[in-house]
Amino acid sequence: MPPTPLPNLSIDTDRLWSTLDRSAEIGVGKAGGLRRVALSDDDKVMRDQFVEWCEGTGCAVTVDAAGNIFARRAGREDDLPPVVVGSHLDTQAAGGRFDGILGVLSGLEILRTPADNDITTRRPIEVVNWTNEEGARFAPPMAASCVFAGLQTIDWLHDLHDDDGIRFGDELARIGYLGDAPVGGRELDSYFELHIEQDSLMEETGAAVGVLTGGYYSHALTCVFHGECAHTGPTEMKLRKNAMVGAAYFLAAVNDIGWEYEPVGRTSASRMQIWPNKFGILPEYTEVTVDMRHKERAVTNEMVEKTRAALTEAAKKANVEAEITAEWTFGDEVFDADCAQLVRDAAETRGVSQMDITSIAGHDAYYISRIAPTALVFSPCIDGITHNEAEDVPREATNEAVNVFFDAVVARADR
Ligand SMILES: [Zn+2]
Repeated sequence: MPPTPLPNLSIDTDRLWSTLDRSAEIGVGKAGGLRRVALSDDDKVMRDQFVEWCEGTGCAVTVDAAGNIFARRAGREDDLPPVVVGSHLDTQAAGGRFDGILGVLSGLEILRTPADNDITTRRPIEVVNWTNEEGARFAPPMAASCVFAGLQTIDWLHDLHDDDGIRFGDELARIGYLGDAPVGGRELDSYFELHIEQDSLMEETGAAVGVLTGGYYSHALTCVFHGECAHTGPTEMKLRKNAMVGAAYFLAAVNDIGWEYEPVGRTSASRMQIWPNKFGILPEYTEVTVDMRHKERAVTNEMVEKTRAALTEAAKKANVEAEITAEWTFGDEVFDADCAQLVRDAAETRGVSQMDITSIAGHDAYYISRIAPTALVFSPCIDGITHNEAEDVPREATNEAVNVFFDAVVARADR
């Protein structure tokens, strides 16, 4: 079928904001942001709402065994591989209203706008909500896109446990999103993700669109300290095997490594589980999660080597045993030059200010870039406040970014 020239379309930004407002009502956090962690009851309510919106626009919805939701708008040549657009609807335990949500709900507008105008692109367009991007409840982050990209198995994903010992696969079934579609293993034409910047560089330079050229190389480790329970009173200092103290020495050392490599390098200590974690008893078990980030892979690797040495030292000093139980890396993937150029051209055509940019945060786009040509696009974020309930975005610049993103996706799908 010959291509029909697409008229100049723009998304209905009022409708986009009404869906963002509806999302902001689901899983409200204690400070008015969002606490919608993966596979919670609120995640289910949001997923149901998203599916209802997608079906309402005439799309076929499929759920895979990782709980990823795909809404598909058929193309004129419907057996061509789809252009996939998406991000995530889950949030941190104290998260913002925009984070990955803007990307998914902009995707919804990319389904709705051609439908409103009776336009069909040559290739099908699919919008995806990736499960558990944040890793706030089930570590690691980006776990479902990781399986989709073939980097882990579905059994690995289903067997992840949260801090209360609840299994990922069981929770996925409980909320009704253990789908039967296989996870990945099919060809994508390309993948486009819109995300808020989560930093303040765009705001400072006045850019409404950020085109990602790469990311920081990040390496995370989960470490466990094994000590011995004992009375906090009579036990002599030299006999103590306090797992929490081993972790404390370690986390301070990890933080010092971050200072050694600042301002480019960063290290984070973000999570600790302690047992029994009660007054009067020395803890026998402590689990921590840390990560190291730098824009040069070799430097991140150097930071990780120092972290491994610090782990051994900390365990020795606290007279406990330590082991690394999980590791994951992401961030230095290369994005697709053609897809990025489509975004730059769209911004140019609309007269929207843009910049090339790198990311220090993780995104599903990193893993998907390993199996499909991928573009990651940023819209600005006020004062760089994110993973915080006060997260906010400038409305006009966001609308511009979403329209540029829409143009790029439609151009790719209609080529
Ligand atoms: Zn995100």
